[in-house]
Amino acid sequence: MPAMRAPPDDGRLALAIDLGASHLSVGLVDGAGRLHRPRVFDLPPSADPAKILSQVKAAARRLLAEQRSEASPAIGVGIGVAGLVDPRARRVLSAGNLGWTGIDVGSVLEQSLGLPVRADNDARLATLAEALYGAGRGCSSLFGVWMGTGIGGGIILGGRVIRGVSGTAGEIGHLTLVEDGPECSCGNRGCLETLAAGPAIAAAGREALARAQREGMRSALCELCGDDPAAVSCRLLATAADQGNPEACAVFARAGTHLGIALAGVVNLLNPEKIVVGGGVAGAGEHLLGPARRELARRALTAPGAAVRVVPAQFRDTGVLVGAGALVLGDY
Ligand SMILES: [Zn+2]
Repeated sequence: MPAMRAPPDDGRLALAIDLGASHLSVGLVDGAGRLHRPRVFDLPPSADPAKILSQVKAAARRLLAEQRSEASPAIGVGIGVAGLVDPRARRVLSAGNLGWTGIDVGSVLEQSLGLPVRADNDARLATLAEALYGAGRGCSSLFGVWMGTGIGGGIILGGRVIRGVSGTAGEIGHLTLVEDGPECSCGNRGCLETLAAGPAIAAAGREALARAQREGMRSALCELCGDDPAAVSCRLLATAADQGNPEACAVFARAGTHLGIALAGVVNLLNPEKIVVGGGVAGAGEHLLGPARRELARRALTAPGAAVRVVPAQFRDTGVLVGAGALVLGDY
């Protein structure tokens, strides 16, 4: 089966936009996957949905204005959104953290920027970037899982991006792992996202801290957060785990085990060559990936389980932009 081919590196540029849960990034992307003039803006929590859209338009217009005088102006706009996106309709179906439902982001940006617009889910675009330029390069079948505030995924099979009839294929974060588990933002219970995304990991860390404090144990976790539960974040827990703190290691082992259970299902269904794991939570590295690999090996069917490799993503924060640019420059 053919691996995915990157767009030609012929000097053309795309304007790329990454609209995440708490940040907005813009930049220009070329056919080799290089990012030019990247800018990152914070989005205030629970910002007005209309204001966010104005901020996106303003940031994109500024970048286009700066770049217009140069030899090769952008030929189009690609936007990745943290939410359910129908790429054919270029419509955001729902993006909980942005407060967006049914936003025709394609038409709105096209009118405002005067360039053709493609829109897609952010995790899918980050997976596309890994397939073309990153850890999934050379693979024809790849699954990407992106763990941050939420958990998203992207599917590439036989060298093609798989989107599904509504454009929502790949939503691994909403696989049910525990029948009556914690309530999820999607309305279901016990989704992977409620067990292994950043907020769930931070909550498990706070519980571990409270336990240590109750039992009078002076663990490294207490020292690191200054005994303040509000200071316990996924990043702090990763630091604690790196220092060998058993409570932090146990939190990531639990999340990694849940991830492994979900990935065993992905492997049995899709038989991918590689699984790329990225996003802020993946910053915990082997503390998360080790237990995930072990659980996957224990549960997946023998042949697809032996064939798959689980690897960290190559792009740290820029994969969505690079994927959004590729969407414009290539035909994926
Ligand atoms: Zn869910």
